[in-house]
Amino acid sequence: MSASDGERATDAQALRYARHIVLPEVGSAGQARLERARVLIVGLGGLGCPAAQLLAGSGIGRLWLNDFDTVDASNLPRQILYTPADVGKPKTEAAAARLLELNPAIVVEQIRDRASAAQLRELLGHIDVVLDGTDNFATRFAVSDACVESRTPLVSGAAIRLEGQIAVFRNDGTGPCYRCVYDEADEWLGDCQGNGVLAPVTATIGAMMALETLKLLLELDDAEPALQLWDARSGAWTRVALRRNPDCVSCGASV
Ligand SMILES: [Zn+2]
Repeated sequence: MSASDGERATDAQALRYARHIVLPEVGSAGQARLERARVLIVGLGGLGCPAAQLLAGSGIGRLWLNDFDTVDASNLPRQILYTPADVGKPKTEAAAARLLELNPAIVVEQIRDRASAAQLRELLGHIDVVLDGTDNFATRFAVSDACVESRTPLVSGAAIRLEGQIAVFRNDGTGPCYRCVYDEADEWLGDCQGNGVLAPVTATIGAMMALETLKLLLELDDAEPALQLWDARSGAWTRVALRRNPDCVSCGASV
């Protein structure tokens, strides 16, 4: 690449991210930080799709996509990276293609199986933030435990029917972890196939997950640990303060 090609590429990037860069909370330095960031998205469903779209569009430099599933026609209302032509394809493959169309300047990595604990441990050494939008407890606990062990921030979202929730677990040794808050008896991880969900509810929570990820990367997140609950019928958001469980089997042992 010649010097002038390099300048043109830099100008194109500055234009693309102009609405970010003009924000005092971001600026050129903040945008450059996003472009260096490495983010893992576990679950490319109704939450992971909009989150991935916004993070790719925002210039997150390297996105890892983890999902073992293939695209089903019933996914299309809310899993907004996929088209009818993608039905039957691995979600990671269809999502990666769409995200690279959206932003060719980023790198997208695919993990097409259920990541094992060992795989997660290895991967999290290179990851700045993890987003979990999966719909089962086993995966969520495994992802959280790996994040606690590696001290990687975890952005966790869930949506069923006309309700959503989101929490950020910094996993820096001070606040609660996912296991401090949830247990297996919680209905929030009942699968959305059985419960149903209205498409914009997942899109809203997915967008919030992308927002919380950018706030972590830009160090704009100064709120106390909280679970944010959203009632889509009334439009009301409720914040519930979260405390560490000293007997937590995951983070309790590390104090
Ligand atoms: Zn804990």
